[in-house]
This record gives sequence, structure tokens and C-alpha cells, in this order.
Amino acid sequence: MKSIQVTRPGAVTVAEVDAPRPRAGEALLRVCYAGICGSDIQTFRGTQPFASYPRVPGHEFSAEIVELGGASEDFAVGDVVTGVPYFQDGTCYSCRRGLINACVHNETMGVHRDGAFQELITMPLDRLHTADGVDPRDLALVEPFSIGYHAVLRADVAEGVRVLVLGAGAIGLLTKLSALTRGAEVWIADDVVCEATGLPVSFLNAVEASAVGARIVLIGNGTREVTFNQSTLIKKELTVLGSRNSAGVFDTLIDLLARKVVDVSPLRTRIVPLTGAAEALESAAQGASGEIKVLIEFPAGS
Ligand SMILES: [Zn+2]
Repeated sequence: MKSIQVTRPGAVTVAEVDAPRPRAGEALLRVCYAGICGSDIQTFRGTQPFASYPRVPGHEFSAEIVELGGASEDFAVGDVVTGVPYFQDGTCYSCRRGLINACVHNETMGVHRDGAFQELITMPLDRLHTADGVDPRDLALVEPFSIGYHAVLRADVAEGVRVLVLGAGAIGLLTKLSALTRGAEVWIADDVVCEATGLPVSFLNAVEASAVGARIVLIGNGTREVTFNQSTLIKKELTVLGSRNSAGVFDTLIDLLARKVVDVSPLRTRIVPLTGAAEALESAAQGASGEIKVLIEFPAGS
């Protein structure tokens, strides 16, 4: 089977590798669509601190179950699914407190372990979510959607709360959609400011734009240091929240998509075939594509 591999920073190739075999409690999945995310671009560029090489990127995907490693009451061959890509150890301090999304030993597909940019992958069944009635192209956007949704839950966004989103990439737009589905008004600065770029200047803008008593949620995972006058936080009595990955929201979002409460289809602005995936990753890494979300389309099963 074909596997998209970043062999070292800046070098991507489509390799021919052996297909994986599902173990007990796992499914073998044929990937349908996989989205290119900022973290995949970081892996490609070599700016992702957790990545080692060679690495198969990809953690946003939809797939079809082609084989089960043992009987299952919940899943069948032919089911179209997506999966939660953050693997936690279940035993560390964070996990024991229920903060599995902030596991000390978290391994995200495509970063710490190989991901979904390959024709076949195996996943534990308890990470899979079926999605009847959802277009497989939209299903590949559930994971980035969950990032925005988790962030608005972090900030207690509810009916009537006014939210400012900084950043108009895929995560910023999906955060806006998340806030809207919670009944919020997405507006100029007020109760909640969602920072979805990870840039120091954007954090400073968030602090500046916040109203008194606002909650700032940091989604963009910036690694650069930010210098600011701490009295700004005190004068406005701001609350700054970090938001990492997501936890337990996939079913909620799949339900919103299946009932057509939200439409994420305008965000997937380009679909490339597997043969064009390396070029798409390079182009995204150059930052010149102007696309919101690029999906890689994998060949249908024979
Ligand atoms: Zn843990």
C-alpha cells in the first residue's frame, strides 16, 4: 500500500509499504479523506518539536472499516468512521484527573506516531465514531472542528455570549462555527476571545481587544515567547485559558453534521488525489496556497 512519508524535514515521498494487520480490539481502515493541518506542515518543515523521522503525517481523516480484529457489536465492515487521534497513557496525573486531552505522555497521530496519510491504518475500536448521513469529506473535518468546540466549552460559551475569534484559518473558522452552535454572537471583542493563530502579536491583540472580565482562550499552539505588561490582565481582570486537543466531543459534532445544523463543506477548499499529496504538502508549507483546508483523497477500495 502507499504511504506518504516525511523522511526528514523538507522531504516528502510516497512509499510502498506492507499493509498493517488489525489486532484484537482494532479495526483495519481504508482511509477515504485526510486533511492537511498546520501540525502536518510543522512536521514537514521540521518545526514540530515532538516529531521524529521518518514520519507519516495526518490526524484528520475519514475511513471505511475493511476488517475487524475480532467480533464487535458496535462496528461492522463497511462502516464509515472517523477516529480520535490523540493517544493517552490513561495512568498519568492528567489522565487520572480526567484531563486525557492533556496527557503528559500524549501521542498524536502524525506527530508522535505515524498518522493517516496512508491507504490503510489500524485503530483501536474505542477510538472510532460512526457517522451515518455525514459526507466522508465533511467527516474528515470533525477533528479540527473538535479543537474549536473544545475551546468554546473551555470558556463556557453559551447562549448570548459575545465571542471574538482571532485568526481566519480552518481552526478560527471552525471555532466561529462552534461558538455559533452554542448560541453565541460572534462579534467584536467581548466576553470571550478565541486566539487561533499561535502568533505572539495575536495574543497581544487578544489582551488588547478583550473587554473587562473577558475570557481569552488560547487554541493556536505558538512556541514563541510573548512579552506583555501583566497589569493589563489585572486591570481588566482577564481569565486566560489554554485549550489542548479535544475531549469527548466527536459524537456531538458528528450529530450536528448529520442533522445539517452546521455546514463545514465551504471550508474544504481543495481536494487533491494521493498522487498530488506531496506537492500539496510542499505548497501548504510555503504558505502560498491560500487554501482553508486541503483534503487528500485516497483511492476507493477494489
Ligand atoms: Zn496520561
